[in-house]
Amino acid sequence: MGKHKAAFNPVTFTLWYEYVAGINPALSAAIDALLKDHKGLDDPAVIALYQKHIAPADEAVMAQISGEMERLLASVAQSASQTGNQAGAFGDQLNGLNKALASRDVEQLKPRLTEVMAGTAEMKSSVEALQQKVSISQEEINRLRSDLERATSEALLCPMTGILNRRGFEKKIESLLSQRTADGHSHCLVMLDIDHFKKVNDTHGHLMGDRVIQALGEILRSAVTGANHSAARYGGEEFALLLPQTSLDKSIELAETVRNRTKAMKIRNRTTQEVLLTVTISGGVTALKPDDDAASLISRADAALYAAKNSGRDRVVTHA
Ligand code: GH3
Ligand code: MG
Ligand code: MG
Repeated sequence: MGKHKAAFNPVTFTLWYEYVAGINPALSAAIDALLKDHKGLDDPAVIALYQKHIAPADEAVMAQISGEMERLLASVAQSASQTGNQAGAFGDQLNGLNKALASRDVEQLKPRLTEVMAGTAEMKSSVEALQQKVSISQEEINRLRSDLERATSEALLCPMTGILNRRGFEKKIESLLSQRTADGHSHCLVMLDIDHFKKVNDTHGHLMGDRVIQALGEILRSAVTGANHSAARYGGEEFALLLPQTSLDKSIELAETVRNRTKAMKIRNRTTQEVLLTVTISGGVTALKPDDDAASLISRADAALYAAKNSGRDRVVTHA
């Protein structure tokens, strides 16, 4: 990782982890090809590789996974039904042998025994085949299940920052709204927005702007650690904290922590360590009201954020 220009963030770690672990052949081939051409990996390359080979959580992947699952189940079902037929026939043979034994008919006993011996061998191999098929299928199902889990959870993550994306945020807010109870718990939402971010892009370029967004993502991941608390990249340079079962005071405190850590963050030149820029953020905090839906909750937090911007930025404002 140190040999390349890309930032050290969850996306880069995931990429190299899968490469070194050798668990993603397509990714490994793509990275090998780049390395062979002596092309270093910069942020855009890492993001492109991640999106192509690690987080292809779209309809096509889902369709492929469920197609593989169906094929697998059909093949096990066929084997099971073959074994079932075999077991039926074997049962008949055993009955025949039983009758011959009961009638003490020595003439009948020999062919019945031969039949049952052959049947036993067939049954054994049929069951073994089924066992093997089931154990292979078990492995395949486990693999498909983890693919599916990854596809589902990564569809909710922002590949650039490793925190929830807008869709992930919407899911969380939906589940909070559906679970809210009249038990007196307070639930809060914080909206955050980088101050004068257009100027960062204009002065230092869009890639540097991306680095700032990634750095803020890291601050959020390390600061937002409470149980059920989530941080999301709501839009380009806007972030949201969803804080179930958290008082307004605690939520303001957390927003202030994030604001202060952001202010203290220095984006440096990777080679010379020279400080290139610092940024500030503004925040709006509000608590869920009984008759809120997602839109009314978000719009109150937005109004508070707007007030923070208008009163000078680099501050957290609460919507009473
Ligand atoms: P304010 O303090 O009022 O928020 O000022 P601002 O300049 O941050 O205002 P505004 O929200 O209008 O501008 C946000 C800018 O963020 C515009 C857009 O080009 C930039 N931006 C949005 N998403 C990204 C991104 O993913 N990467 C980079 N580099 N820039 C982005
Ligand atoms: Mg904005
Ligand atoms: Mg902004």
